[in-house]
Amino acid sequence: MKRYSQLVRHDGNSCLFDIIDVAILSTYADVPVHIHVEGLRGTGKTTILRASRNIFPKIERIKGCEYNCDPKEPHCPNHKDLPPEEIEKIGVELIDMPFLEISHSAKKGTVVGSIDVGKLLSKNNPQAALLLGTIPRAHRGVIFIDEINRLADTSPEIVDILLDVMGTKPGRIQIEETGLPTVEIPVKVSVWAASNPDEDPGPLENIRRQLSDRFDFVVDVEKPKSIGTVLDILECRQQKENLELEREKVKKFIEARKKLSEFQVPEELKTTLASMYIKYGLESIRGLESILHGIWILSALQGKKPEVKDLAYLVRVALKHRTDSKNLAEILKNLENLNSKNAEVFQRQQIELSGKENIASSKQREKNKNNNNNIDIFRKMFSIFSRALKGKTLRKIESKNVEICAPSKKAVPLRQLDFNDCVKTEDEL
Ligand SMILES: [Zn+2]
Repeated sequence: MKRYSQLVRHDGNSCLFDIIDVAILSTYADVPVHIHVEGLRGTGKTTILRASRNIFPKIERIKGCEYNCDPKEPHCPNHKDLPPEEIEKIGVELIDMPFLEISHSAKKGTVVGSIDVGKLLSKNNPQAALLLGTIPRAHRGVIFIDEINRLADTSPEIVDILLDVMGTKPGRIQIEETGLPTVEIPVKVSVWAASNPDEDPGPLENIRRQLSDRFDFVVDVEKPKSIGTVLDILECRQQKENLELEREKVKKFIEARKKLSEFQVPEELKTTLASMYIKYGLESIRGLESILHGIWILSALQGKKPEVKDLAYLVRVALKHRTDSKNLAEILKNLENLNSKNAEVFQRQQIELSGKENIASSKQREKNKNNNNNIDIFRKMFSIFSRALKGKTLRKIESKNVEICAPSKKAVPLRQLDFNDCVKTEDEL
């Protein structure tokens, strides 16, 4: 199986890499981000999603807690009521941020939880206990579902569970078993899914629109279009993984999380979004929330204030499944206009603010340069004349003393000429 550092990024998949970065940092910061990747078979979408676990940062949990309790915010039935000193006694441990998969053969019990038959039938100490399912075990991590359109078509029960998990942030999950008290716990799980809309049973939004709307971002992945990229992919198959590159990526997430509070979404971007919602009659406010959240995370990753072009980038993936393509094209066009207008304003401001000083100093530099050039030319001319006239004195030259061959007459000063001498007819000439 390929590792993250062996993947080749190209025009057809680069957006997925960016959105995965946003989803990882957000999950690490305890806010789930749900992504749905659509593409034809062979575009490498599932490979990229699975390999991304190589760049997951580790998380801290209460030692041995299967629910992955955050020591600062315990949520499981065993730890939620414990005082901090008790938790300190139990201790903490670092674990890999979870990445678990839900397969098509999954049942409600395996996804949510069921009675632990092993413990129930224990000879020495039989007890009724819960065996946790995939979702509660993935708390503070990621759940991956391949071919989600097929699952939505065949397992409505699992889809209902996903709707609860993805409906709010954090989501909720209820574990019920006969003879055991019902356990309801909050879950922070990012759901990542992939599907091929061209294969049966078709696009997810046509099967369960409600589930499709739960995804923050829908990303298209396409095949590489250049020979060079295909050659890179072939070469990468033989290349060894670059663990250092993966470690650097993990470090980037850890650093960005520390700086998240330093970033905010500017008011003007919020207003642009709100007016977009009204003007284009967007159905889901969830889409706007996804965009706002995505911009905030993206700006922390990039280490800069978010701009209109970041907004446009996220609008494309956040509204693709929430509005028709004509509407989306118009929204993007408007954002593009706004972006170029902002760029002009920015440029003008730069010239007005810092530019004045720069221009003044550059003008001064230019002037000095010209002066220096002139001085150089004069110096050169002076030295040439000095050499040429060494030992000679300059004669006063008057036009009447100059012997010339043509015209035949001697030259006379202009003021001594008669009017007739100045003006000649064509015949006289
Ligand atoms: Zn716990």
